[in-house]
Amino acid sequence: MKKTMISLVAAGALVLSAAPLQADAVGNGPNYGGNETINTSILHTYSEMASYLQKQEAKQKDMELEVIGQSVKGRDLYLVKYMKNPENPTILFLTQQHGNEQLTTEGALEFIKHLGTGKMKGVTDNVNILIVPMLNPDGAMGDVDFSLDDYVASGDRHLTRYNALGVDLNRDHVTKIQPETQALHNQVMQKYDIDYMIDLHHQGARSERDGELVSGSILYPTTPNVDPDVLEGSKKLGAVVFDAVDSTGWGHLGKYVGGTAETISRNGIAVEYGISTLLFEMRGMSDHEYEPYVLGQKSNGYLIKQTITTLDATVRAIADGSIESKDTSFWDTLAEQRTRQSEEDE
Ligand SMILES: [Zn+2]
Repeated sequence: MKKTMISLVAAGALVLSAAPLQADAVGNGPNYGGNETINTSILHTYSEMASYLQKQEAKQKDMELEVIGQSVKGRDLYLVKYMKNPENPTILFLTQQHGNEQLTTEGALEFIKHLGTGKMKGVTDNVNILIVPMLNPDGAMGDVDFSLDDYVASGDRHLTRYNALGVDLNRDHVTKIQPETQALHNQVMQKYDIDYMIDLHHQGARSERDGELVSGSILYPTTPNVDPDVLEGSKKLGAVVFDAVDSTGWGHLGKYVGGTAETISRNGIAVEYGISTLLFEMRGMSDHEYEPYVLGQKSNGYLIKQTITTLDATVRAIADGSIESKDTSFWDTLAEQRTRQSEEDE
């Protein structure tokens, strides 16, 4: 346990220097070999996402689309809002702080479409939903001031964790120096009375729990400065997600092993705003220079579905109040995921 924390800190330090983890011998990993190709062309580009959102806004009377700022390279950053009654509880879903973790955004886009259909009827009467998809569009589009030549995916573009300046946005939640982080804090966190937040990410492809590879992992805030009630809310949010995902045939979740730094949104946002946060790490990244982090596209279907299931289950549990009575004791027995080979994300 202690050892893991230390390695996390080391990973964080590397990340800040914009020198991603050194790849082991290339060709050494199990990676996507046998799990077919990784082609980034099937993912929404930033502009495809923008037109998708504009089209949904035109179709859905309850949906509002807002620009909350611009990325380093000048791309508009979007906030999707369903806010019928400010008195209702509010949940925020955040995707792609790390540009190479795109299936979370794909799932969020699909969920936004669902919100405009009959099967979600009435849900938004009782819960406010905020979605910030693709907070790091420059990284997602590979439009960055450093080389991605050794990244492994094929397709129209490479995707990277960092923003255009090589900064990890999920280490910028205390000083808030980057324009993407500033937009999130100034135009979303400070403006709305948010109760819950799920920060959606992807981790490496080779974590396991009880000997079986996980479809993802979850974690509540682990800083000692978090208010106990906020922490309890996070654990309840995690219980909703765990029950919805782990009970499916394809879902298998472990407990993420994460650090206490408040530069990370899971910790920092819980402390600064009193919001119950949950980190959700899906399996496998869309692109990376380190092969074992990347997952072939045959897994896309269930990972997108995992995001949709997560968003759907949590908004319903908040809307009908059932989240309040969730039993959080599963956290005491949920095993921390183990890594078949060193990998960290968050
Ligand atoms: Zn991430």
